Amino acid sequence: MNGIKNSLKSIYWDREIETAPREEIEKIQLKRLKDTVGYFYKSNPVYRKHLDSKGVKPEDIKSLEDIKYLPFMDKSTLRENYPLGYLCVDKKKIREVHMSSGFTGKPVMMLYTEQDIDQWATCMARCYRMAGIEEGTVIQITPSFGLFNGGFGFYHGARKAGLFVIPTGPGNTLRQIKLANDLKTEVITGVVSYGIRIMEVMKDNNLSIPSLKKGLFGAEVFSQKMKKRLSSGLGIEVFDIYGMTETGGVGTTGMDCPFHNGIHVWEDQYIVEVVDPNSGEPVPDGQEGELVFTSLTRRAVPVIRFRSGDLSSIKSREKCDCGRTHLRIDYIKGRVDDMLIVKGVNFFPGQVEEVLMSIPGVREHYQIIVEEKNGIKNAYLHVEAEEGVDSSQIEKKLGETLGVSLKSKIFKPGQLERKPGKAERVVYMREKKEKSRG
Ligand SMILES: [Zn+2]
Repeated sequence: MNGIKNSLKSIYWDREIETAPREEIEKIQLKRLKDTVGYFYKSNPVYRKHLDSKGVKPEDIKSLEDIKYLPFMDKSTLRENYPLGYLCVDKKKIREVHMSSGFTGKPVMMLYTEQDIDQWATCMARCYRMAGIEEGTVIQITPSFGLFNGGFGFYHGARKAGLFVIPTGPGNTLRQIKLANDLKTEVITGVVSYGIRIMEVMKDNNLSIPSLKKGLFGAEVFSQKMKKRLSSGLGIEVFDIYGMTETGGVGTTGMDCPFHNGIHVWEDQYIVEVVDPNSGEPVPDGQEGELVFTSLTRRAVPVIRFRSGDLSSIKSREKCDCGRTHLRIDYIKGRVDDMLIVKGVNFFPGQVEEVLMSIPGVREHYQIIVEEKNGIKNAYLHVEAEEGVDSSQIEKKLGETLGVSLKSKIFKPGQLERKPGKAERVVYMREKKEKSRG
């Protein structure tokens, strides 16, 4: 479909839309916003009631700023209507389902029509071209193929972008490395911790994948320092891909481009707002807050003003050096509900990771253990490090940088448990806390 329009070596999937002037993008956004709200209102009684209870009608949306009159949706509104409460189409039109990997309670379910799968694949195809991944490139997809959206998201997009797919899923890392060498894999995709796992197994076995050039990673805590480690450990350029179950899966909301200066959000597909996590009021560009997404083209289950729980800020609405005009958000700092408060100090797992990865000899596996006794939270750290690193060094650096006192216990490389799937960076000893991202 888009094959003719896009030459083999294009760095854009759809140059016209990816580089459209801002006024043009905003015109598309307003039209699609009106259409989506009207469509959702008309085709879904639950959403209609939701809007009616706030005294808002679809016709009230006359400009993009009017989006602020629409009520928020969040994980709980989606969960309360599990499984099919927010469905806008006949069930016979559904082609696929994915679910969030939350640890407790009902999962968030995302349903896809044929058109929704195509929208997802198009977002992903844009990400691939943005990373300079051309038709015919050999790509190894390591996230699992199942209810988690990762495996299928990379797959649908790769099919559209004309890539040579090796759908390994996660695990059996030695075999993955062999296969990568046999077929000359050029691009690898995965959750961050699996990228680390591959790097580790290569190092321990003195192996390499010389053909590998690029990696697309996401879905977990991902500090800039960890990104650097992955990049140098695997000898590749690393891209931070963003998306979540509720917006339709990996890559739907965007990725960073080769200039690595924030994440481009596909603005003709989504409106992104940044709000104060407490008051819900919009904050100015540059100020940190919670990201809120509105889908503009999804049919089975649209989301309108979905509170993602992810903290970031609008980095720039100016045209990027890559030529794209779609705005950039800063790299995700953490999730609102992942913020830890220990002895009066607030911090995020990603900040701890950033500090750890700046200490030579500290390895990429760590866990923050949170204990709650009589309502008082205490946290300590389990971290793998090479010989010569001692815990006081880590504690001192954490104290200096974050002002937090975290007792640290050092483990030899390989000693901490590796679990399949997403890494559990924060372990709650008494109550498990809900957290999921894509
Ligand atoms: Zn760019």
